[in-house]
Amino acid sequence: MALPLSLVCDACRTEFPFASGVGQCPQCGCDWLDPQYDLPATRKIWQQSLATRPQTMWRYAELLPLENPDNIISMGEGGTPLLPLPNLGLMVGHPHLYLKDERQGPTGSFKDRQASLAISTFKENNIKEVVVASTGNVGISYSAYAVRAGIKVWAFLNSAVPQEKMREIALYGTEVIKVTASYDRTKKVAARFAERKHLFYDKGVKNIAAKEAMKTVAFEIAEQLGVRKDGTFIPPDWYVQAVSGGLGPVGVWKGFVELKAMGLIDRLPKLAHIQAAGCAPMVNSFNAKLERAEPVDIPQTLIATVATGNPGDVYPHLRKIVLEHGGHFAAVSDDDAFHAMHVLAQLEGVSMEPAPAMAFAGLFKMISRKIIKPDETVVVNCSGHTFPVEKYLLDDRRIKAPHADIITPDTGEGVLSVLDNLDTRVQRIVIVEDDPNAARLLRRILQARGKYQVMDAADGETGLQLIQKERPDLVLLDLMLPGIDGFSVLEQLKNDAALKHIPVVVVTAKSLTQFDKERLAGRVQTLLRKGAFSDDDLLDDILASLETDAT
Ligand SMILES: *Cc1c(COP(=O)(O)O)cnc(C)c1O
Ligand SMILES: [Zn+2]
Repeated sequence: MALPLSLVCDACRTEFPFASGVGQCPQCGCDWLDPQYDLPATRKIWQQSLATRPQTMWRYAELLPLENPDNIISMGEGGTPLLPLPNLGLMVGHPHLYLKDERQGPTGSFKDRQASLAISTFKENNIKEVVVASTGNVGISYSAYAVRAGIKVWAFLNSAVPQEKMREIALYGTEVIKVTASYDRTKKVAARFAERKHLFYDKGVKNIAAKEAMKTVAFEIAEQLGVRKDGTFIPPDWYVQAVSGGLGPVGVWKGFVELKAMGLIDRLPKLAHIQAAGCAPMVNSFNAKLERAEPVDIPQTLIATVATGNPGDVYPHLRKIVLEHGGHFAAVSDDDAFHAMHVLAQLEGVSMEPAPAMAFAGLFKMISRKIIKPDETVVVNCSGHTFPVEKYLLDDRRIKAPHADIITPDTGEGVLSVLDNLDTRVQRIVIVEDDPNAARLLRRILQARGKYQVMDAADGETGLQLIQKERPDLVLLDLMLPGIDGFSVLEQLKNDAALKHIPVVVVTAKSLTQFDKERLAGRVQTLLRKGAFSDDDLLDDILASLETDAT
């Protein structure tokens, strides 16, 4: 586990020392930065110990930018099987076809790698709330991992995202904001919201963690295709993926480049980028020999997962790779994708969501055009699963409808006022609690219940300062605290005219004496007993009373 040595700017190639949180090149301001590691040292370590490490993406930790392994939030992501496709191979006369089964990630898509590393770095950098824009799978994956880190997620989804995915995101307790516009507009609304609320906005491919996590797909593929006697790996000839924003190919490419720099592979594969014909800005722009992508304003595809109309800086980056090293950009129709979905299910027993089926439709097209040769080794990323069917299994009462806020940017001024509204309906809560586990649990319970902005302090003194500064809507207070204890904090709050109206809920593991009870009488809203939070109807009542107070 190590932080990178340095960062290199993708635009001007300036190299400068790594520091967490740096988002821009000091030379030119470009926000595409690539971490550099001690590759020779890593090669030595890997050759000694890689074979014995567990099969998750964290087996490659030396090349992932996280400092302290205690911050890893992992649910077994990565280490997915590389399945040969013998029937399909026989049918098309290509014996070396493989499928990288990313359906087997904890939430069923390859975004789990991104989420695991990104959420771990948020934890390491003490980020407590994040805003993401998503076509579905990032929202699902970030939400799941954030639960385990005690981080609150605000997920902005474009309206084409299927209800099933929205419901899954809401199920994890994430705030779902549905934006009735394209994905590109949705990203802008999300960024604006984050800026207004001073929250961390995850910039996808420009977030170092996201790109670095995707490298592990390349490391695994090369290792799975074979380890030679001298410890080197076998790269494929092609890596094929359904492409939306292009994070996957960008990260996978960097992974192969690092393997080559370490001498672990002897050549680089070619990248095949497959897009939906109704939303194929990269394919169209490449064919038209454009250096920057012509955005697609209104995507015309049913495959919402891949509906990025404006790939921004990613397109010139991938174009350069294809021009220098070979590779391909291809578009396929939705019908071709649905057909490929049936073929893969019926020939190989793999059911997948329409996005990866597009990648297979692209494979078929490239094979029939002889762009891929019969003796070449091809790995197709099966990037996600089919939709969950929970809706059809549970009765209506048990289905948690996503109580999504809906934003329609087309009404001009409307967006700002809705963003303001999202702001004002947020209740602010301060937790004063010295046990970090108890604090995390309380934070999590609150986050999953609504629009609460939770701040915490680990001792009485800091707690008091925080309450004075923030004037929260509610205080959750532990009684046994280092320094000034909870009783004294309460005393000082109630003696302060500006603060005495703030409701206080005491959270305690201590059994109260008669004297304690007298000291608390009339001053606290309720008492929550630690270890009995499951009786959280109580908390529901408190929070409900807050909402009515606010309106
Ligand atoms: C996000 C996603 C893609 C597209 O990934 P990018 O590399 O960001 O273009 C493809 N398939 C699935 C299932 C996805 O979730
Ligand atoms: Zn630069």
